[in-house]
Amino acid sequence: MKLLVTGGAGYIGSIVAGRLAAGGHEVVVLDNLRQGHRQAVPAGAKLVVADLLDPDAVGAALAQGFDAVLHFAALALVGESATNPERYYRTNIGGTLNLLEAMRAAEVRRLVFSSTCAVYGEPDEVPMPESTPTRPTSAYGRTKLAVDWMIGDFCRAHGLGAVSLRYFNVAGASGGLGEDHDPETHLIPNILRAALGANPFVQIFGTDYPTRDGTAIRDYIHIEDLSDAHVLALQAVRENEHQIYNLGNGNGFSVREVVSATHEVTGVEVKTREAPRRPGDPPELVAASALIRRELGWEPRKPGLEEMVADAWAFAQEHPNGYSE
Ligand code: UDP
Repeated sequence: MKLLVTGGAGYIGSIVAGRLAAGGHEVVVLDNLRQGHRQAVPAGAKLVVADLLDPDAVGAALAQGFDAVLHFAALALVGESATNPERYYRTNIGGTLNLLEAMRAAEVRRLVFSSTCAVYGEPDEVPMPESTPTRPTSAYGRTKLAVDWMIGDFCRAHGLGAVSLRYFNVAGASGGLGEDHDPETHLIPNILRAALGANPFVQIFGTDYPTRDGTAIRDYIHIEDLSDAHVLALQAVRENEHQIYNLGNGNGFSVREVVSATHEVTGVEVKTREAPRRPGDPPELVAASALIRRELGWEPRKPGLEEMVADAWAFAQEHPNGYSE
């Protein structure tokens, strides 16, 4: 298939794009390179530098003709979305609207969308199935939920077929590609920076959560297992339908447990510093992924936290200054 991957120079988009290119698909990456890295665009993929907020550029890119689009490009920081919501509404919702309109004009009718468990907010129960009420607690989560609604409306009105994958916490690295954000806000890369000595310590945001050790619990999924899910989703897209799947392992690990796993893997005991909760961070997010397992046949191959940390550690050691080296 000929595939357009928006955000394909970012962490998740680049690794999925690489997987698709290796699988024999013709891959075009569309990225504005603001958060993305030119060096992360996988071998075998063509790069179009364009912004989703530029409808002419997006229209021109789509006009090449594609069988499907995988849409990763977005702003994705909960904290930043609280102080700068307009950027999130403009980029995530406005950018996706431009993309969907360009897809419609070019008659591209298949979409796989990077959604997020942030659309659920604070769940009453974990693990969380797709029927969990959507009550996002951040502007980020609200914009992603609005996009899911928009996609559903395009499916009903215009014959689009789409699969939204609601990711939990993506981790690990693959094929020499990994996580390099500036600023880096994610837990595992921040612990690894401390392990490398690039940061003096890692902060633990919140030690008074109602969890087994007081720190927040998340469900970590290996980027390669997430990539598998995208390949399956692409095959499962059906016109006029919007399918939504939660995507995680179903195992929760606390921040302190992640710190210990990192110690085990790296042999380095990083210094930690307790800090207040980060606004908008729920106590516990764990996926129920029975639906994607049953309907798409997805099965994680690297469910262990240690494997994710080991792969992320290998990438961090190869790229101590990220892609800039
Ligand atoms: N976290 C932390 N220290 C950090 C980064 C994150 O304690 O330096 C916590 C964060 O509050 C959350 C969990 O680790 O409870 C996972 O955060 P991350 O930013 O990796 O992913 P998120 O769950 O926000 O998507």
